[in-house]
Amino acid sequence: MLIEIIVGSGAALLVFLAWKGINVLPVLALGGLCFLLFYLLERRGELAPLRIGTCSPQAGVSFEDVGGQGPAKQELKEALEFILQAESVRAMGIRPLKGILLAGPPGTGKTLLAKAAAAYTDAVFLAVNGSEFIEVYAGVGAQRVRQLFRRARQMALAAGKNRAVVFIDEIDVLGSKRGTYHAHQEYDQTLNQLLVELDGIRPDEKVNVLVIAASNRTDLLDPALLRPGRFDRVVRVDLPDKQGRLQILQLHTRNKPLDPGVDLAAIAQETFGFSGAHLESVANEAAILALRDGAKSIAQHHFREAVDKVMLGEKLERKPTAEELRRIAVHETGHAVVSELLQPGSVTHLTITSRGNALGYIRQVPAEDFYLFTKEYLEGRIQICLAGSVAEDLVLGSGSTGGAGDFQEAVRLAKQYLEAGLSDLGVVSPEDLPAGVRHRTVQRIIGGLRERVRELLLPCRSALVKLADRLVTEETLSGDYLRAVLREEVNCA
Ligand code: ATP
Repeated sequence: MLIEIIVGSGAALLVFLAWKGINVLPVLALGGLCFLLFYLLERRGELAPLRIGTCSPQAGVSFEDVGGQGPAKQELKEALEFILQAESVRAMGIRPLKGILLAGPPGTGKTLLAKAAAAYTDAVFLAVNGSEFIEVYAGVGAQRVRQLFRRARQMALAAGKNRAVVFIDEIDVLGSKRGTYHAHQEYDQTLNQLLVELDGIRPDEKVNVLVIAASNRTDLLDPALLRPGRFDRVVRVDLPDKQGRLQILQLHTRNKPLDPGVDLAAIAQETFGFSGAHLESVANEAAILALRDGAKSIAQHHFREAVDKVMLGEKLERKPTAEELRRIAVHETGHAVVSELLQPGSVTHLTITSRGNALGYIRQVPAEDFYLFTKEYLEGRIQICLAGSVAEDLVLGSGSTGGAGDFQEAVRLAKQYLEAGLSDLGVVSPEDLPAGVRHRTVQRIIGGLRERVRELLLPCRSALVKLADRLVTEETLSGDYLRAVLREEVNCA
């Protein structure tokens, strides 16, 4: 109303001035410029539109395309039943499900699950990234949130559907605890708008919007987002277990020619800690390696090499000198022999091919997936870390900088050992422990275990030399060859 009065009075004033013979053109030009600026500021959100990814349920992904993740799929399906049975839900006076939060590490299939949820509920699917809402101009984020929900409703109506799934990836970028970013209130306004939109979803609406958000850092989220009535379902999407890894590998090799001898279960066993995205990459890299080899189908060794590549990076053209190569071979042989002595059957291969930051490496297979470290296991891991430099000492008479990375890992494990109450200090409060005591305890743990590694490797000196020499010529040795040599060496128990 006030604006109308001002505009009206202004126009009247201009007419009066013109009637009096005063030149009003400069005033008109200035007014026009102000109007243009005002207009641009108002519409800046639309001028820099939100990038929204969409996919139709027909072209989309179904729950069958998501490998492993049994509990997550089950939980998600249960939640989606509320949407499919909207009539009964409404009749019972149950409020609609507004948001589901998928929480878990990167690459575990959260986006896939959201797409599958859209297909399952026959809804239109819109995907955006949390970072899309963050702009330097105040108000743009909030405007984009409104734009997103408006688009979801429009798209559903245009497609003749009454459901829409809005997927917000990395919601922690826009949904972190309010007040975190003191410098600018833009983040807070954006989050407030999202909360308003979530609260605005009502059972009587023509289009039922479901927000599925994903985050690797749920601890950063504003509590208002997690309170019941908003994202009141939190579904954990964890790294896949062995069976899950096998299913994912099977899914991603469906369209690839495999050798009859390929054992995907063995690859699944070797890839503990891999996410779905890692496994997809393994299948893809294996196919690329087979193509480079000119092979018609993918063999087991292509998969093995693909796992190394995904784990450590591309093979490097680095050419160490002959002397360095021998040192690397001795170092890796040390790791492999101790690994085999402590956990028989654990080494799949050892190599002196440089990849990523590693000059050489050994690959071990855990017998089973495990989620808890015993005292013996941690001691074993530390010994395997130290074995490379001990072998260098024994065979070559001195160590090298090649052991630095191993020592860092050994120190990390020793700290874990201490904090778990496994050291001679017993159970401790790590933060109250004086730094000197902590340092000396870590040194004691590592010193004692280094001595044990020396005792293990001393009788194996000739096996170390034999294996290292062979490794220099062959570049890669299999775990089976390593075990055969160790069996021949009577002293090396
Ligand atoms: P981020 O948190 O990094 O966004 P995300 O959890 O959303 O990752 P996706 O984008 O769903 O992960 O997965 C990336 C790719 O990894 C998928 O396109 C798919 O090829 C593969 N992938 C991941 N998890 C699975 C799975 N459980 N089954 C089959 N493929 C998977």
